[in-house]
Amino acid sequence: MTSIERGLWCVVPAAGRGARFGGGIPKQYLTLAGKPMLLRTIEALTAHPRIAGVMVAIAADDRHWQDVAGTKPVMTTTGGEQRADSVLAGLQAVRGKARDDDFVLVHDAARPCVRGDDIARLIEQGIPAGGALLAAPVRDTLKRSGPRQRVEVTEPREARWRALTPQLFRLGELIGALQSAIAAGISITDEAMAMERAGHRPLLVEGSESNIKVTTPDDLALAEFILARQTA
Ligand code: C5P
Repeated sequence: MTSIERGLWCVVPAAGRGARFGGGIPKQYLTLAGKPMLLRTIEALTAHPRIAGVMVAIAADDRHWQDVAGTKPVMTTTGGEQRADSVLAGLQAVRGKARDDDFVLVHDAARPCVRGDDIARLIEQGIPAGGALLAAPVRDTLKRSGPRQRVEVTEPREARWRALTPQLFRLGELIGALQSAIAAGISITDEAMAMERAGHRPLLVEGSESNIKVTTPDDLALAEFILARQTA
């Protein structure tokens, strides 16, 4: 069976403390339409026929995780200090379940509204391209701020994209790229950044704007609205 036909593992970094969100419990465990956000994210992934299993990286002192029963394997491993450390831990835990030249997905716990058709397009276009990410073209005018929050310059928005997840890369290549970036002390905010640094040119696959990253309490209400519309 080729990589195109085999099911793919998905790593979900979920070891963040949600500092920007505020509040006592990590944002991935906040209730979203009656269920913890992380469970909603895992369900969106395992519902997709191409996903073989999910490896969730949780904090060493996580007190909220409860095993998620389902028809596909959902496992946990201990995440790290930064998102990239958590992703790397998840990928290393997937080694042994998948081969180094198999493709894996990485998807943020905080993106519960990811759509099945976006996952399908990412896989169909990303595998022949050797690696890809969901992304959305920038639609607003971009300003760069200077001192006292005054506009310094208007940035061109042409050819600018916002990187979303899932992102899809070969397991071995992504582990190598993350290890190298972490060793160099570079702050890596998504997988594509590590791959770019290693000389790859990931494909941008346009994804739905509704695949938001829940970062503030307002986003939680928006995510509930998006989910309700998806199931309507
Ligand atoms: O903080 P931010 O929203 O950028 O986090 C993106 C994702 O990375 C979240 O799902 C969060 O739980 C995860 N994360 C992690 N380990 C960290 C920091 C963030 O798994 N140390």
